[in-house]
Amino acid sequence: MLTQNMLNQERKKKLRWFVTLSTMPLLGVVTAFGLVPTSNLGLNTGNIAIEEIALSGPAANQTSTAATFWHTERVQRGDTVADLMQRLNIKDTAASDYLRNSAEAKSFRKLSSGNEVQAETDATGALVSLRYLGGQNAQIIIRKQGEAFSSETIAAQLEKRLFVRTGEIKTSLYAATDAAGMPESAANQLTQIFSGDVDFHHDLRRGDKFTAVYEMTYSNGALVKAGKIQAAEFINRGQVYRAVLFQSDAKHSDYYTPEGKSLRKAFLRSPIAFSRVSSGFTTSRFHPVLNKWRAHKGVDFAAPIGTPVKATSDGVVSFFGKQNGYGNVIVLKHQGQLSTVYGHLSRYAKGLRNGKRVSQGDVIGYVGMTGMTSGPHLHYEFKINGQQRDPLRVALPNALPLTGANKVAFRVMADKFVASLNQLRNTNLAKLD
Ligand SMILES: [Zn+2]
Repeated sequence: MLTQNMLNQERKKKLRWFVTLSTMPLLGVVTAFGLVPTSNLGLNTGNIAIEEIALSGPAANQTSTAATFWHTERVQRGDTVADLMQRLNIKDTAASDYLRNSAEAKSFRKLSSGNEVQAETDATGALVSLRYLGGQNAQIIIRKQGEAFSSETIAAQLEKRLFVRTGEIKTSLYAATDAAGMPESAANQLTQIFSGDVDFHHDLRRGDKFTAVYEMTYSNGALVKAGKIQAAEFINRGQVYRAVLFQSDAKHSDYYTPEGKSLRKAFLRSPIAFSRVSSGFTTSRFHPVLNKWRAHKGVDFAAPIGTPVKATSDGVVSFFGKQNGYGNVIVLKHQGQLSTVYGHLSRYAKGLRNGKRVSQGDVIGYVGMTGMTSGPHLHYEFKINGQQRDPLRVALPNALPLTGANKVAFRVMADKFVASLNQLRNTNLAKLD
């Protein structure tokens, strides 16, 4: 289902402009640059007729035109074959029987929500052909052949394409990534990659710039997978940060600076995905519930109830349960004398227990408003030797750098990306309005 979600996100993005890079080779592996097709099935959408034409009533039955009409729909949760056929404007009993009962159309009945289906009908709503992606991303084409139907399977021909998007922040990061035509999955990756160095909660400034090179996988021209950012640059307040992906083996990949330093910190800055900070770390503030001034030795992250809360580092659950003003709280013990605290939770992750090992990024609980709080938020504390420190400001240790053969292999690749990023910055930023 993950793939489907990404496809939906990808499709939602409107392309307002894009940077043409077809003449600029980025790496040897580049197959193509270009626009993300508006249709996942990669068909020419120019001949998709508007519904009114096909619905033009009894008069349409009398016309003897050979014109056909294309209609595109996405499977929605809970859809029956009849629901989908209705939205595709197919009014065809024989087609209905075929799609409901034939063994050949089994993959059609197995389509899950978000999948795209394209139907070609005649003016009366009789099915002419139908296309969708079946198992293993093969494209299935069902055609009417006389009184019967036939099904053709075009095997997936996976093709990876690299896309490059450059943007400048004017109002918000997501407005800028939208304007750059970057899919949401890539925008989210961008914030994750640089989250150790840039505090996306309050370091962003108008004029900050970004460039991302990301991969998309296509099958027969249809987008099947939004992939990883391969290299990226983020310029925050004039400071340039760069990241290059390195795949050390089939299972492990991570982002490094072009010099081979890991971008991953031993701790995440924030236990929840990018959101607004409602109350920062201070030794004195006016407490909204107690109605008096007192220290706030943590950071509050405003977020809706139920937002997943992530362990900011590898560690062990040393306490979870109710605790006075904290409400439902989790305490994690990490290496050295470090610990983190997550308060006001609505509930805990399934299977949480004292002594359980957790990894960085594991969901341990969900935002709530238990304990002493005026609204839903996460109260987060970072402690060194039991003393609270400002988690947004404290210097965090890095994960291990690349060494040996990995470092040599990485440098060759990183050098190419750096050369490309330099070139991109010089040639494309000028095109942004
Ligand atoms: Zn708090």
